[in-house]
Amino acid sequence: MNGQEKMAEVLRSAGSQVQINYPMKRLTTMRVGGPAAYVVTPSNAEQLKTTIQICQENGLKFFVMGKGSNILASDEGFQGVIIKLESDFQKIRFQNNIIEAESGASLSAIAKKAADRGLSGLEFASGIPGTLGGAVYMNAGAYGGEMKDVIQEVTVMDTTGAIRHLDKTELELGYRSSIFQSKSWIILRGILQLEEGDPEEVKRKIKELTEKRVAKQPLDLPSAGSIFKRPEGHYAAALIEEAGLKGHAVGDAMVSPKHAGFIVNAGEATCEDVVGLIHHIQKCVEEKSGVRLVPEVRYLTPRGLDVIR
Ligand SMILES: Cc1cc2nc3c(=O)[nH]c(=O)nc-3n(C[C@H](O)[C@H](O)[C@H](O)COP(=O)(O)OP(=O)(O)OC[C@H]3O[C@@H](n4cnc5c(N)ncnc54)[C@H](O)[C@@H]3O)c2cc1C
Repeated sequence: MNGQEKMAEVLRSAGSQVQINYPMKRLTTMRVGGPAAYVVTPSNAEQLKTTIQICQENGLKFFVMGKGSNILASDEGFQGVIIKLESDFQKIRFQNNIIEAESGASLSAIAKKAADRGLSGLEFASGIPGTLGGAVYMNAGAYGGEMKDVIQEVTVMDTTGAIRHLDKTELELGYRSSIFQSKSWIILRGILQLEEGDPEEVKRKIKELTEKRVAKQPLDLPSAGSIFKRPEGHYAAALIEEAGLKGHAVGDAMVSPKHAGFIVNAGEATCEDVVGLIHHIQKCVEEKSGVRLVPEVRYLTPRGLDVIR
């Protein structure tokens, strides 16, 4: 048994599932990314706590991944532990208009269950292909709504394994940002408050927004959604289109001909292709309109999150 296999056995001793050298292109919606040294799937909070302790005792970095729908993973992989929160971490509970959802629950599943009960407020999120944890971390939003409008409280595990409860005012939610982007806390669950409404009306709204997405977004190809943040006073997609970049490609990474705000993987794109295309877009848009586009996507390198330079 080599050192990596021995470490995998130690990680398994917590009861979690462990895979080694797992391709991150299988964990991200962009379908790029080299091998993660370890992918650990704890099925409850106790296993998660032990996993974190093992990481710390052995000097291993860890990174929590939701559905990987806002992640650009490096071709060189990740030299640490990717933690995936499934099983117990996917539960959703309702009490009147209050939802308590675990961080690994799918956002669209929460929105659809809420719609069945006639609860309004999460319609905007029905087409966002992430987990509750990823949505809170990113303060995900669409069509005039954002997580900030509905989230009331978040429970996290810190790096010592201690549990903390944060109320809305402590979350520092801003445009695609939250306190979690500057901490190493793991989001365990959230409490959302919605409005009582008419199930038919809530479902009609979801249908309308879904049709808009299908008409405007390249949902048939792998992507990470909008690759850039919305610059103040502008739309990234419009600036990219004005720079004549629709359909422009670097390797198999292409500016979607359908929606210039998306970079799609048109085949076997690598992370290097995507980063090359991001740089090209930034340069052309800055020359044309003077606006510097900032990536929204989180860039995961072998050593952890980094900015795309
Ligand atoms: C087709 C498509 C459409 C999209 N449309 C939208 C849209 O309309 N609006 C929008 O805002 N986004 C959109 N996105 C982007 C993405 O879906 C959101 O950012 C989503 O919230 C990410 O959730 P995730 O579970 O995939 O997180 P991931 O991409 O896996 O992770 C994102 C970040 O959150 C962190 N994270 C995840 N879970 C936890 C946790 N439990 N604890 C601590 N940190 C955690 C990760 O470490 C990472 O830094 C779209 C993406 C795609 C592919």
